[in-house]
Amino acid sequence: MPADMSFWCPACQAPIDESAYRCPQCAGAIECVSSDAPTFPRADITARPANMWRYAEALPALAHRVSLGEPMTPLVPFEQDGFTALAKCEYLMPTGSYKDRGAALLASFLVGRNVGEAVEDSSGNAGAALAAYAARAGLKLKVFCPASASPGKLAQIRRYGAELVPVEGPRPRATEALLEYAAKHAIPYASHLWHPLFIEGIKTLAYELAEQDAWRAPDAVLCPVGAGSILLGLYRGFKDLVAAGTVARIPHLVAVQSAHVSPLHKAFHAGAEDVAAAENPRPTRAEGIALPRPVRDRETLAAVRESGGTVIAVSEANIEAGIGELGRRGFCVEPTSAVVWDGLRQYRQTADLGGDAKIVAVLSGHGLKA
Ligand SMILES: [Zn+2]
Repeated sequence: MPADMSFWCPACQAPIDESAYRCPQCAGAIECVSSDAPTFPRADITARPANMWRYAEALPALAHRVSLGEPMTPLVPFEQDGFTALAKCEYLMPTGSYKDRGAALLASFLVGRNVGEAVEDSSGNAGAALAAYAARAGLKLKVFCPASASPGKLAQIRRYGAELVPVEGPRPRATEALLEYAAKHAIPYASHLWHPLFIEGIKTLAYELAEQDAWRAPDAVLCPVGAGSILLGLYRGFKDLVAAGTVARIPHLVAVQSAHVSPLHKAFHAGAEDVAAAENPRPTRAEGIALPRPVRDRETLAAVRESGGTVIAVSEANIEAGIGELGRRGFCVEPTSAVVWDGLRQYRQTADLGGDAKIVAVLSGHGLKA
């Protein structure tokens, strides 16, 4: 049986009403806590359908399940300068990005709470994922996006029947417009950045990576980082696996940012404990990670450090090169995902891991979108 769940502010050490999207006291991010620690009964898991729900004993208690299949995504070897790395093909999820893992749990949670209408802000992939799962759940969704987001992503959001509200100006303007609207109309904010259920869903990415290698952790995992949800999902997921005695250690977590918007990179290499908002963000093709700072910035920095990982910044020229290099290896990914190509090259030059190290690069979003 999945465990009971409650919401909690780690900074205030206080319970939080589950209708809040962040702590009303300190404005910090809320976490989801379960009454039982996650377990991974391997024989039971293996006997279940190959989707994210197979880790039932590690998922929060949900009365309803909103699902579009969410398959285990392939882990495919590829070569870079004679080194063999592994691509985790998250772009093959139902809406073409890893965000379906979080959106499936979040939509399940909202439907279980009899929510009929919600709002979300997104530069694209999260909006599309939530729109699809809202459609599946019969939930009315309004999505606030920057007007400059990829036309392909906006078309996808519309296709699922969500109402799109384009907002002119930089990314944070979309959030401001949403908060104003949500407060005025008392509609829940189904935030992929703030809502704790979203990261709970991303944890299944770590569970899958372990299971796909006979319940062992890879040596390192590289992922694009803007808000930090993949990285924190991996961190918390692998922590669950270690706590349960299922894997021996967490992998080195390597955050890859666009050099044009790289606040985490700056904070990490300055030895800071929190992340200052990017001072002069410049336009980048990696639009999905062009965020001024991660929501859970302290935890993200601490996760990278605790794992023995690092933060890498990639130039626009090398993002472009990554799109082509990955494409010529059969991976059709969006520019945001392509940062991992040069991220891998830089990481291999600095990390002392040996030639047979297992390094996973997360390919987060499909190239047909952008
Ligand atoms: Zn608080």
